[in-house]
Amino acid sequence: MPARLTVLSGPSGVGKGTLVRALRELAPHVWVSVSATTRHPRPGERDGREYRFVSRAEFEQMIVEDALLEHAEFAGNHYGTPRSPVLKHLAADVPTLLEIELEGARQVRRSMPDARFVFLAPPSPEELVHRLSGRGTESAEAQRARLARAEIELAAASEFDHVVVNERVDDAARQVAELLG
Ligand code: 5GP
Repeated sequence: MPARLTVLSGPSGVGKGTLVRALRELAPHVWVSVSATTRHPRPGERDGREYRFVSRAEFEQMIVEDALLEHAEFAGNHYGTPRSPVLKHLAADVPTLLEIELEGARQVRRSMPDARFVFLAPPSPEELVHRLSGRGTESAEAQRARLARAEIELAAASEFDHVVVNERVDDAARQVAELLG
């Protein structure tokens, strides 16, 4: 029985990145997939650690080669999960986590229905707006795109097997770690 694949999703700004960092400490046996993206690195991000930062042409080549398990456009950039590292870790029985947005999660549900789907929700919609506006790493236009998308993503929480509310990140990380086993 291969190790379970867990997909963590939730609106931009809800704190998925922070939660995944906490989870790495709580559950170091879990392998976290590194996505490819055409977005530019934010300060402090390193190629191969947070993301593989690729050009649009490289991203399209991965699609042509069917090298992505799922992919989606988000706020003007492309994001995708390289397929073979995920399959390799699952085959080696390593619990595997994808941190992706809603469209990608829906694609994984179609191709790998046995995966476990976890939605990270904000304590309130107002709190999400506050967090997204306060981040300071995005232009006003990018913030607007992320806010619009956040509303759509929030409405999809009921599609997921589990909803974890990110009131305090260490509590939320503990709940996700328990789900991962
Ligand atoms: P950010 O630019 O803030 O790092 O990520 C933007 C959104 O893209 C987040 O919701 C994040 O979960 C999502 N994302 C990151 N990697 C992937 C991926 O490989 N596939 C998909 N579909 N979404 C991703």
